[in-house]
Amino acid sequence: MKLEIDNRTPYLNDYYFQTLALLYFPGEKFRADDSGENFAYFLLEETDAQNHIFYSKVRLASGSAFAEAEWSGGYEPTIPMNDDFYAMNALGKAFLEAGRRLFGFGLPWGYITGLRPVKRAKYYLDRGYSAEQVMGLFERDYDVSFEKADLSVETALVQQKMLADIKPNDCGLYVSIPFCPTRCDYCSFVSYSNAKLFALIPDYLEKLMRDIAATGELIRRLGMRVRAIYIGGGTPSILEPDRINRLLGCISKNIEISENTEYTFEGGRPDTLNKAKLAAVKANGVKRMSINPQTTNDAVLERIGRKHSSAQFFKAAEEAFAFGFDTLNADLIAALPGDSAESFAKSLDDVIDLGFQNITVHTLSIKNAATIRFTEDGYYDPEGEFARNSVAYARKRLKEAGLSPYYLYRQKNTVGNAENTGYSVCGKENLYNVIMMEEHSTVFACGAGSITKLVSPSRSEILRHAYPKYPFEYLREEKGIGEDEAFAFFNRKEETV
Ligand code: SF4
Repeated sequence: MKLEIDNRTPYLNDYYFQTLALLYFPGEKFRADDSGENFAYFLLEETDAQNHIFYSKVRLASGSAFAEAEWSGGYEPTIPMNDDFYAMNALGKAFLEAGRRLFGFGLPWGYITGLRPVKRAKYYLDRGYSAEQVMGLFERDYDVSFEKADLSVETALVQQKMLADIKPNDCGLYVSIPFCPTRCDYCSFVSYSNAKLFALIPDYLEKLMRDIAATGELIRRLGMRVRAIYIGGGTPSILEPDRINRLLGCISKNIEISENTEYTFEGGRPDTLNKAKLAAVKANGVKRMSINPQTTNDAVLERIGRKHSSAQFFKAAEEAFAFGFDTLNADLIAALPGDSAESFAKSLDDVIDLGFQNITVHTLSIKNAATIRFTEDGYYDPEGEFARNSVAYARKRLKEAGLSPYYLYRQKNTVGNAENTGYSVCGKENLYNVIMMEEHSTVFACGAGSITKLVSPSRSEILRHAYPKYPFEYLREEKGIGEDEAFAFFNRKEETV
């Protein structure tokens, strides 16, 4: 789509304007010479810099229809905010009004973009505001709906409890296995999924284990303690039992694992699991597993190119429960093409009835060519009513089943601007997801596509170190974060970590 930005202020960059536009035009790409049917024009001006008084004007067009809205005025936030906040507020008001006029529907998350709602809710709660007050601030400051404000605050309250005993020197460890048996159509994750590239797995594991050993040594020298380990992908369970044993053996040798260490192995694709692999995972001390059907409707699985059956999921879940893992998680996706309200409700019932204590409900995101094809096939509803209804239903149904939201995140281009939410029975939450998503604690990462994030004790600064995305690049002896760099980062902030 074409975007025209007339930003007469020093606040907000072009990327912000783009992400804002995507709230009403998910999946669009921005090209100056675009002559497609979608268009957005933004004007932002600060008319009184001292008092943060702005004038904004937004014009949106889709095909021959267009709408325009203006906003002018100041805004007094309850707590001090940076200058960008005032500009976002002024722009957001006009944008939402223009969108409502053009499309006839509002946005449940208001104009929030590039901001973690739960982190913001915790920010207010930590400053002594009550849950009701925080909800009021969400509605007032960001035009967030009552339901989403309530979801954010409830999630933040659960997180407050989960994080109460996390110390500044507690950290997480992520281990990446970026290989999958086949590629699902909707996936934008970089992973290798063909037999020729699987030949890299032995070398990849050797390199990965060297990195885990070096990371374990660095964690010890920094005086940190690993509270959560997450082996994710890709599909870690693509590894054969002997390789699972070697990898997990390496982790046990190099990382201090105690009763308090959360230890998760992402099974991911049910078709890769069998009793021998589950036995290897269990024997090495893993307490939590994730087995992800996304839907239990076989026609939908086929439609999204996820090459396993619901029967394979039910079998893998039954076997995993029989092994007695402490916690089992299942992921579902709302608004999949070909799905229906009844079929989504059945998928939810299936994972609840199986006994999963931890269930994540994602929403389809329009990210790559394959998902854009979904929209062309007429499966994508721009208002996202199906997605919105699905996530609202999931919340209600999971609450009835005794599961509460404990982490949530939003992505660009998500159908209906809906969110991804992790639900859990009390005590079965996933700490890794929370410390990583909320950038609450340092997470060391090993493997292609993984990112180490050092979080300063005050959480005011983050140092990132990313490994290359592709395994073949990673194999070129790419180094992890250096010891000098890590010590310099922590020592710059405080005397001790
Ligand atoms: S199994 Fe997961 S990571 Fe692999 S292609 Fe499918 S969605 Fe992507």
